[in-house]
Amino acid sequence: MAKLLEGAPVAEALTRQIKEGVDRLRRFGPVPTLAILRVGERPADLSYEKQTRRQCESVGIRVKQFLLPENSPRQELLDAVEAINRDPGVHGCLLFRPLADKDTERAACALLAPEKDVDGVGVGALGAVFAGEGAGFPPCTAQACMEVLDYYQIPIAGKRAAVIGRSLVVGRPVSMLLQQRDATVTICHSKTRDLPGICREADILIAAAGQMGMVTADFLRPGQVVLDVGIHREGGKLRGDVDFPAADAAAEAVTPVPGGVGRVTSAVLTRHVFEAAAGVSLQRQQP
Ligand code: NDP
Repeated sequence: MAKLLEGAPVAEALTRQIKEGVDRLRRFGPVPTLAILRVGERPADLSYEKQTRRQCESVGIRVKQFLLPENSPRQELLDAVEAINRDPGVHGCLLFRPLADKDTERAACALLAPEKDVDGVGVGALGAVFAGEGAGFPPCTAQACMEVLDYYQIPIAGKRAAVIGRSLVVGRPVSMLLQQRDATVTICHSKTRDLPGICREADILIAAAGQMGMVTADFLRPGQVVLDVGIHREGGKLRGDVDFPAADAAAEAVTPVPGGVGRVTSAVLTRHVFEAAAGVSLQRQQP
């Protein structure tokens, strides 16, 4: 049986550290504050907002809402982003996506000040991830993968990693973060040939394709560490991109779904808000 890399202890350890940091900061400095910028009332957004708010409150981070009605004119959203950029009392911004209009979404993400871009949505923050320096934070899910590896003391330097998926939300940024920590990374996508063979070669396999159960036994081998980023709803249950019984039988360690990487993501968001408030918006990776 594979070792289960549960997200809860990782999130709890992060939450403890962040709470201590926020307590210290609040004694002498600003109250770290996250702006939530939401357009419309989609149930998934409302539930994510509730969870984010709870996580922020648990560490002493204040949340300020910026709400716009569905079908708001593009300029209103851009004005809201500019107001957030200008507001010295707001340190980070979480823009709920996807938006109905992709061009507007891109413009809003690009306008957000990199030092307040705590979920790495804009080109400035992503540029920092790719360059390894500059203002901005990596997307929280990509960073959550790194937190899981570090918490469980999984060596990264010199290891072969395969990442399935090349989105700017997960696949590409996590590939860069792994490479900055001296892994040799293969970024795979829908046109990759012999995907199972490439994945079998990897010491660390990160599945972020958004295809339920696609990582089957032929992708896996003993000794591998498998991180499952995928989230799918099937018959009221959550499942990942990895065929869990196959990974449990073959790999050395695997994250569960639910309760794996996803559990760590909101804790990472609060750390980014704390760091933004403390003025630590430089890309940094801990060994
Ligand atoms: P996207 O749909 O934006 O990207 C999927 C990527 O996977 C693309 O690069 C695509 O390739 C690649 N891909 C799709 N099918 C295959 C295949 N059969 N073989 C190889 N590569 C494939 O998804 P996201 O990156 O946004 O999300 C990925 C998953 O992670 C989803 O299940 C999502 O729900 C989950 N997620 C989880 C989060 C968490 O906190 N745990 C947060 C964010 C996302 P190509 O580029 O060629 O199209």
